[in-house]
Amino acid sequence: ELSSNPFAWKNLIGDDYPSEGHLPQVGDANATFVILARNYELKDLIKTLKQMEDRFNHKYHYPYVFLNDVPFTREFKEWTSNIVSSKVHYGVIPHDHWHQPPDIDEAKATANRNKMVKDNVIYGGSVSYRNMCRFNSGFFYRHEILQQYRYYWRIEPGVDFFCDVDEDPFVYLRDNNKVYGFTISLYEFEQTVPTLWKTTKEFIKEHPQYVSEENAMGFLSDDGGDSYNMCHFWSNFEIADMDFWRSEAYMKYFEYLESKGGFYYERWGDAPVHSLGVSLFARKDQIHFFHDIGYRHNPFQHCPQGDVHRKGKCWCSPADTINAAAGRINANGQLTSYSCTERFTKLVH
Ligand code: GDP
Ligand code: MN
Repeated sequence: ELSSNPFAWKNLIGDDYPSEGHLPQVGDANATFVILARNYELKDLIKTLKQMEDRFNHKYHYPYVFLNDVPFTREFKEWTSNIVSSKVHYGVIPHDHWHQPPDIDEAKATANRNKMVKDNVIYGGSVSYRNMCRFNSGFFYRHEILQQYRYYWRIEPGVDFFCDVDEDPFVYLRDNNKVYGFTISLYEFEQTVPTLWKTTKEFIKEHPQYVSEENAMGFLSDDGGDSYNMCHFWSNFEIADMDFWRSEAYMKYFEYLESKGGFYYERWGDAPVHSLGVSLFARKDQIHFFHDIGYRHNPFQHCPQGDVHRKGKCWCSPADTINAAAGRINANGQLTSYSCTERFTKLVH
């Protein structure tokens, strides 16, 4: 059946999916989109992919890597490969990269999940959500298909891209020696990471050589590293360098976290884990706020302002943006925004 497809010769390696009209990459970076998704998210994903193509990738044709803990359906592969302009790969995640490790004490994990459900913690009772957070924290960049790539842009089904992306963000990271880019930052729910900071402090005490002298501790802590202020980059959007996650510092850090079991006993998210890793082991000038990329993941969005909004032909309402400087502190001195981005920009400028 495949051999009757005249374009099948183009990419029949491994999980590559042959498709008509896939154009050779024009973008100059060694980079790919990475999309972890479930088969039933197809319709949300299609809308997102169409926006990504129309706003950016129709000019660059960077490939897409779709990952899943179960095989993608034929319908998923056909529809996604058809809507994009570039090469596509579909990968299944190795069993041990996804499932709860055998050394986790299941009785303790269950008791803690039940407690979180009672406390109304979002995804508090979900094991699959924990699998996902652990996978995104420490495994996605080790997937066989991703070995050939260095930079990635993480996308989730259902997110919106509001503006034209004229400049290639992968090339920007590469040429400016940056390792991590974000658009939205906010505060984590404390109940999901009660011992993450303590564990991280233990790790850096044991391995002080991994901590960058130019770190972004000031983004994470308001008291010089004593306590965690819950700030993190929202990892559903990431444009970053997988070689950073593959570095000795981060791999050892992840191993240490894994050994403490907090992905299952608590509900450590990949957003705080990535944020702590990159803020401590990279230089703060290696982290980039992509302020000109308009982006929405429910319930928050970043909408560029003024000239950037006009130039990018953005369709978001400029008044609706989590990163707005105005109105952050109300008359009673209370925080009215969940964003940590101002803290970040003050730190690096
Ligand atoms: P939220 O953004 O924290 O509310 O979590 P999501 O439900 O959006 O999950 C984050 C990402 O992981 C999305 O890209 C999902 O498609 C993906 N994801 C979450 N759970 C699973 C799962 O069980 N299997 C697969 N294949 N993907 C998942
Ligand atoms: Mn999501």
